[in-house]
Parts: sequence; structure tokens; C-alpha cells
Amino acid sequence: MAKRAIRGEAKMADIIDGKAFAAKIRAEVKNDTEKLINEKQVNPCLAVVLVGENPASKVYVGQKSKMAAECNIKTKDFKLDSSIAQETLLKLVDELNNDSSVHGILVQLPLPKQIDERKVIDTITVEKDVDGFHAINAGRLSIGGAMLKKAFIPCTPLGSLLLLKDRVEDLRGKNAVVIGRSNIVGKPMSQLLIEESCTVTVVHSKTKNIEQVCAQADIIIAAIGRAEMIDANWLKEGAVVIDVGINRISIKKEDGSEGSKIVGDVDFESASTKASMITPVPGGVGPMTIACLLRNTVTSAYRFAGLDDPREN
Ligand code: NDP
Repeated sequence: MAKRAIRGEAKMADIIDGKAFAAKIRAEVKNDTEKLINEKQVNPCLAVVLVGENPASKVYVGQKSKMAAECNIKTKDFKLDSSIAQETLLKLVDELNNDSSVHGILVQLPLPKQIDERKVIDTITVEKDVDGFHAINAGRLSIGGAMLKKAFIPCTPLGSLLLLKDRVEDLRGKNAVVIGRSNIVGKPMSQLLIEESCTVTVVHSKTKNIEQVCAQADIIIAAIGRAEMIDANWLKEGAVVIDVGINRISIKKEDGSEGSKIVGDVDFESASTKASMITPVPGGVGPMTIACLLRNTVTSAYRFAGLDDPREN
């Protein structure tokens, strides 16, 4: 769909189809992978480390491996017991750092309580940190400019930005409000939007008058983890809404039995009456996260092969 200016006349919001856009990115990734295999005989490879039995993590890891295979990216899967000692996990990460056939290392979060997540993330070599969580990659993103070209950008904020850039005519000078300040989504998202010359406000659980702050926003990024918290009352007419949230809620099925479904942090129906564009959940940011992980993995393989990045961030 064509790009458009943000402020539109009041009507139901256009849906930003993350599923379709992610398929396009994966097709590019597959193409870049095949080029690398043909020209340099290098096959991009992602090591995926899953610790414990967290059901959501198992689903994500399964999806990542499946989509990688579809793009001809190899994966090495490691499934470890939840009681694993930190030293054993660090040793595995170190082995993967030194394995020249591996270009990206993903340690699925969250990790069990006995393990220091920060220590594990910062043990991954910066050049293989395709999740972009290493302190040095976070620093490069924060500095911006030319440093961004050396960084790996966290996949969910990168996917959200790519959706915005695809659909919004000009991000410069737009008021963007990011709800949430996590290292995985909120903070890197705010830095990416600053880099795009948006005027960025970050709000969180201690923010006063949060609804009024959000009502000034041309662009809202919701990364909260609270089911359907944001409705039309929070939005300025014509705002663009990117819903990062993934929340499982209980529902009563038609036959009266108990069931569940996934919803975002935004009340989609209500917000759609005021927003100009909105991402659905599922089918918005979620597929973009995996596509961007694969994109980062191929970028890493190009860098290891001494080639320029196949695409700009
Ligand atoms: P975190 O729990 O780490 O952070 C949530 C943020 O929301 C915090 O900064 C918190 O504020 C803020 N917050 C919580 N409650 C409120 C409130 N009532 N009002 C305002 N701010 C609030 O979550 P993540 O950033 O990891 O994830 C956010 C959401 O995105 C989740 O639903 C998660 O499942 C989803 N997600 C989706 C991904 C995808 O691929 N689509 C990938 C990663 C996450 P404070 O800092 O003050 O506590």
C-alpha cells in the first residue's frame, strides 16, 4: 500500500499488514543468502539457545528455526535444562563465539533465575549479537549516525521502524510517544525514532497524565505488556499506532467453554476509529521481529565474509 501523510480525515484506520511486509523481507533475506552461498560458499548460520520449558519461548524458537530454514539459513539448536549452571551456559556461548560456521547467536530470554541475563548477553561476541542486546551494540545505537552501520539493532524496534518507514511519508518532526522503556523494545525504539528526527517522548508506569501525553502523539508505539490498555481516548485524530504488545487473555468460546486468544496493548477496535493506520495483533509487529532476526543474521554473515551489508538498516 502507498505511503501517506499522517493526518487524514476521520475514517476507520488502514491496517499495517506486518505479515505481508515480513514475507517481503524474508524473500530479500533468502535472496541475499543464496547470493552469499553462490559467490562466497558461505551459508549463514544462526545458533539458537533455549533454556528451560517456557511455553512461549518454545513457540518463538520453533518459529525462528522454521523461518530460517525457509530462507536457507542454517540453524544449530541447543535445548538446555532449566537447572543449568551459569558457567555451563557461558561455556556454550563461548564455544559458539569461536565456531566460525556460526554467524549469529540467539539466547532466548527470559532465562531462569539462577542465571545473570546481562552476563550471558555480554558474553556473546558483539559481531554475532544478532539480537542487538549487547552493551556495545546498545551503545552504537545510542550514538547513532555512522555507528549505526556497525550495530545490530534489536529486532522488534527495527521491525516496527521498517513498518513506519514503509507507510509514513515523512517521519521528520513528528511527535512520537513510546510507551514502555525496556532495553528490548522501548529504549531502542526511542533511539531509532530520534535518529529519524522525530520528537520523542518515552512514557512508563510512573508517568503522570499519560493519556494526555499520548493524545499529543502523531505516532504511538505501545510496548507495555498490558492487554488492550490503549483505546481511542488516548489517541489524537489520525495518529499512527504500532502495537508491539503480545498478551494472552482468557475468553469464553461460542460453545461456552474456556479458551484464550492473543491481543495487543491496544484495543484495536476502539483505536481504529481514531487512528489513521494501525498494526493488528497478531499479524503486525510479531512477524517483523523474526524477519529482522534473519536479516541481522545474514548481515552478520556478509560482514564475516568481508562484504558490505546487503541492506541498509
Ligand atoms: P517489559 O515488561 O520489559 O516493559 C514494559 C514497559 O511498560 C515498562 O517500561 C513499564 O514501565 C511499562 N508499563 C507497564 N505498565 C504500564 C502502565 N500501566 N502504564 C504505562 N507504562 C507501563 O516488556 P517488554 O518491553 O519486553 O515488552 C512489552 C510488550 O511487547 C509485551 O507485551 C511483550 O510481550 C511484547 N513484545 C513483543 C515482541 C514482538 O515480537 N512483537 C517482542 C518483545 C516484546 P516501568 O519501566 O515503569 O515498569
